Formats: sequence, C-alpha cells, structure tokens
Amino acid sequence: MELKGWRGCCRLAAVTIFKLKYFAMTPEKFSEINLINRIRDRFPLPGQDVIKGIGDDCAVFLMSGSKAGLITTDTLVDSVHFDLSWHPPEKLGRKAAAVNLSDIAAMGGIPSFALLSLALPESVEGKWLDEFFKGFHEMLQAHGVSLVGGDTVKSPEGIILSVTVVGEAEQNSVIYRSSAREDDLVWVGGPLGEAAAGLLLCRRKIPEDNNGRFQQLVNAHLDPEPQVNLGRLLSSTGQVHAMMDLSDGLATDLAHLCQASNVAAEIDASQLPISDAARDAADFLQVSPLDLALRGGEDYKLLFTASSDKSELLTRQIMKELNQEIYCIGKISPGQGVFLRTADQTIDISFQGYDHFA
Ligand code: ADP
Ligand code: MG
Repeated sequence: MELKGWRGCCRLAAVTIFKLKYFAMTPEKFSEINLINRIRDRFPLPGQDVIKGIGDDCAVFLMSGSKAGLITTDTLVDSVHFDLSWHPPEKLGRKAAAVNLSDIAAMGGIPSFALLSLALPESVEGKWLDEFFKGFHEMLQAHGVSLVGGDTVKSPEGIILSVTVVGEAEQNSVIYRSSAREDDLVWVGGPLGEAAAGLLLCRRKIPEDNNGRFQQLVNAHLDPEPQVNLGRLLSSTGQVHAMMDLSDGLATDLAHLCQASNVAAEIDASQLPISDAARDAADFLQVSPLDLALRGGEDYKLLFTASSDKSELLTRQIMKELNQEIYCIGKISPGQGVFLRTADQTIDISFQGYDHFA
C-alpha cells in the first residue's frame, strides 16, 4: 500500500515535469496552416515516385503505366466534429467515409480501398457500433470501395474515428489545387452554407422544426454526399484547371486554392448559391446567410476553376450526364487574396473560414 503511494507520487512528479517542459503556461498560438507548414518544413521532399506530397486534398504517387495513386486521411473527433446527442450512428458512419471520399473526388479520382481506425471509450455500446458500421459500409459500397484494414484502440474519453481512403486516376487527369489560371471562372458544385445552418439548428435542438422545413439543412450536416461522380466528370472534360473540396468554408478553401496557384479570386456575392431553406434558417437563427455560405464549413461540394470559354457547354454536359447544377461564383485574377464583391464594396475575405486552432 505504502509502495503504491510512493510510486503514485513519483509518477505524478514525472508527469508534472513533462507537462512543465512541453506544455507551457502561456501556450504558443498555432493556426492550422502554421502547424502544417511546421510539419512540412521538417520533412524532406518526397522521392521521385511522389507527384504531390503535403498540400493538396490527396497525396499523389506514381503507379504502373499511366496511373496515379491517390491517398487521403481524415479524422472525426467526438465533441469537435460530431455530437453524439444528435448525430445518429448510421449517419456518422456514412459521414466518416464521405469526408474522405470527398478528398478523392477533389482530385478527379476513383476511390478503391479504405482503412478504419477506431479509438473507443469503454462506454460505447454494441448497438451504436452496429449502426455506425452499417452507415460506413453503405457509403463505401455506394462508391465501390472495400474496407481492407484499420486499427482498434481504447480511448480514455470520447470516440475518435480516423479513415484513410486510397484511390486512383490517370496521371494526366488528376486535378490539383495549384493550377488555377488568370481569367478562369470559379465554380462550386452545389449550394453553400447548408451544413453550417444544419449544425446551428442541431445545436439549438430544433432539427425537425415546422414539418421538416429545415430537414435538408440538418441532413447536409449529418449526412453529406461526396461529389465523386462530379469530380470524375469534371476531370474528363479537360476544361477544369484547379479543384478541391469545400471543408473549411469557401473563404478559407478558395484562399488555399489561390495561394497554391499564385493567383487571386473575386467572388460576386449575388452569385453565391444559397438555398431558400438556408436563407429561411439564417433568418430564423438571426445569422447572416452570407456568413453561412462563406465561413461555414463542411459543405463537401467541389470548388473548381475552368476556362471561361465553353462554360455553357460545361453546365449543359453536367446537367445532361448527372442531372446536376453547378454554379459560377466569380473569376480568377492576377495578384493575391480572395475578394468578395457586394453591391457597395469589395472586401478581402481570405482565410475567414473554419480553423481548428483559431
Ligand atoms: P483537407 O481539408 O483536404 O482534408 P487539410 O486541410 O486537412 O486537407 O490538410 C491540408 C494538407 O496538409 C493536406 O495535404 C494534408 O495531407 C496535409 N496535412 C495535414 N495534417 C498533416 C499532418 N499532421 N502531417 C502531414 N501532413 C498533414
Ligand atoms: Mg479537402
């Protein structure tokens, strides 16, 4: 008993010394970009087989023949990315797969294999897990993806879901963030701000308000649909120069695309696709619909730039083959930054979306 107490004291002292050494009283402030740059600076450039390392939606590597391999990973953390009190396990399973498939879509690729790593607290129930796996399986199956491995560990608190997806594409049809050109038009693959509105509605515990008036918004948050077919079709047209998916909000993601391509963008506020439901919800929640569209994250729609000639052809082709609308929201220009043009002013909105460490 005494020995245990002595060991306990030693352990506490060791932990305190460790914390004093590595976790400062006034912690250094990081942004997500700073952290990623810090990692990038410390690791040597990858070898010849790597076409793209850190910095795009997927890493891209050479495969045999004309093929390129794509690989991406994303993590969802309890109380950061999801709230178990309103996120049904089946939809969370679908979302854990979808957010990764979306990164493959962003390169114009075809997803093929997945790995699933689970960190689970002891309190998790078998029924919850069964429903989670059902949703995860459904989403993978819908895109022809097989689960081939993963890892399972105990978490002291809260569920952590980490998914890796591997895919492929023809080397010359992979679309990067860094290839936007001056005078390209800027497009998005669907309405913006719906997931952000859905999240706010869930937080205020009004998900099925007024006979499901806001159901499509809540669903956009709980169960996003990755635009894999759109990504493949866009890359096959040869007209799309740069592409990524929208996870952190247009203001931040377009700023990433512009920075990577060394260009600027001007967005026309009146062109932003904001659905009537999102406008209704913004009114109800007393927030700005523009803020939802620009700063709200997790839309998982594709953001892409394409040459301005033949743009009518592009919209017609997408409508014909996928029965889907795409929306032109602005233009690429020389310089730096993302600018929003409204009726009376033009303001810089670069990087005003979601940042995990802000
Ligand atoms: P996305 O939102 O498309 O998932 P992120 O914003 O998470 O992309 O990451 C941007 C880039 O930084 C990606 O290329 C990603 O692989 C890389 N990255 C992010 N975190 C790390 C990390 N801890 N180590 C190495 N690379 C990272
Ligand atoms: Mg992405």
